[in-house]
Amino acid sequence: MKKLSTYTILLTLLFHFPFSHSLAQTPKEKGLQAIDENTVASTITYLSSDWMEGREAGRPGAYRAAEYLASMFEFMGLEPAGDVVNGKSTYFQSFDVLEYKASEKQHFSVKNGRGQEFTFANHTDFEVKASPNSVNGKGNLIFVGYGIQVDSLDYNDFYKKELKGKIWVRLKGVPTEGKIGNSMKDIPLKQIHKLKEQLASRYGALAVIEIEPDGNLPQHAHNVPFRDNRKYYEGDKPLSSFYDTRLYSPVTEVSTIPPLFMGGEYLMASLIEQGEINAYKASLNTGKLHKVNLKATSATFKANSDVERKRVRNVLAKIEGTEPDSLVMIGAHYDHLGKREGYIWNGADDNASGVAAILGIAKAAKATGVQPKKTMLFAAWTAEEKGLHGSKNFLRTFENKSKIKMYLNFDMIGRRGDWHSKDNQVSFIYNAENPSTWDINAENIEKYNINLEMFDGKTKQGEAGGSDNVNFDKEGIPFFWYHTGGHEDYHQVSDHADKIMMDKAAEITKLSYLTIWDIAQ
Ligand SMILES: [Zn+2]
Repeated sequence: MKKLSTYTILLTLLFHFPFSHSLAQTPKEKGLQAIDENTVASTITYLSSDWMEGREAGRPGAYRAAEYLASMFEFMGLEPAGDVVNGKSTYFQSFDVLEYKASEKQHFSVKNGRGQEFTFANHTDFEVKASPNSVNGKGNLIFVGYGIQVDSLDYNDFYKKELKGKIWVRLKGVPTEGKIGNSMKDIPLKQIHKLKEQLASRYGALAVIEIEPDGNLPQHAHNVPFRDNRKYYEGDKPLSSFYDTRLYSPVTEVSTIPPLFMGGEYLMASLIEQGEINAYKASLNTGKLHKVNLKATSATFKANSDVERKRVRNVLAKIEGTEPDSLVMIGAHYDHLGKREGYIWNGADDNASGVAAILGIAKAAKATGVQPKKTMLFAAWTAEEKGLHGSKNFLRTFENKSKIKMYLNFDMIGRRGDWHSKDNQVSFIYNAENPSTWDINAENIEKYNINLEMFDGKTKQGEAGGSDNVNFDKEGIPFFWYHTGGHEDYHQVSDHADKIMMDKAAEITKLSYLTIWDIAQ
């Protein structure tokens, strides 16, 4: 009898006070409940709608997106952490950038061994990637393969070559086969472009002429709509690529990046035999690269750029901690590639998905009902796509960098990446010097039953790539970030909200909230 009555009491208690409400839910758990699929789906859908016009930094779509983000931060009760205007704090941090665009007038000609000179036509035989300066030059040509160097694999396109002051003939992309191909296949395209550009600059190339290894149509012909998708367009209007402009900070030094010409088949045919390219590719994994003979010996070029000044804005908001001398930052870039001639690069995965995560974390942190120990500073970065400018500008002007104990970054968290074999996989990139980040994250997956499988993306300081975390890494600030990987819609007009795995983005938002909340204590 006694036993039974205890049971009855217990049952009654359970009935009246359901487990999830009564049994001392922690603030952290309360926060977790604030995040669900709708939390992220609403932001992703709105930011990647056509009305945002691809959120290109400095253009109306990005201004609209920033207003929306500021209003959401305000709505959720976060304090403004941007510029002080007329004595009042705002959610915006404004700064200027210079936007460069390749001019219509360009010149590229080559001379062969017999002294014959061939002049090529802009938009027909080549396209020019805009440089911060107009550059003229004349020099001998040299073949540099893919123009990469991977010391750990003993791969070096530059081995024993006189590179300085020469005009480089370079293959587009990276090797795709063998050991070297394997090592490069997970690296985002953007990072590869950057690496190749840095190497060309470091080794003193006068200019670079890039050609397609398989001899196909040039990707940059004038009626080709998208840099990485040359198919299907049959319109009669010329379409330019989103890479036709570049942004630079007015305070950076004069750039020494060599001008880049992207050559079509006609130009390629005057430079190199297809057989030579094939022989080169075949030699990639033999340990001894085929020595390529070029048909042309020298080139003359004029690479001209136009410039305009633009004002761009970061959006910054905070939740003050009880110990505000330490802070954690949570950031994602909200800018994308804009619109051109009727096409809009909506950027749902890149990076409306990441912005949704930071709003989700802000919502959860407020829902805890308590103040974190460390201040949580939220940043929606501008102009990431054209050089990580938003985060760079923030760090350049932020007075107390040593207060920043951790930076959490998001860039593309809504898809199944090309190299993932399961839907729930996500790369977790963090400093090797801070292994505890991985452990905290792993504990939260376990404890809160998060449906995600992590890829260990440990990086050493100075080797971080890809997104705004690079700028934090340069300052020695530890970071971690979530990234679901590249896919066929990456930087295409087809990066739409209907392709986003909202449930996955929500799981990543939950997990990142749990982890950064722990770190903020
Ligand atoms: Zn991105």
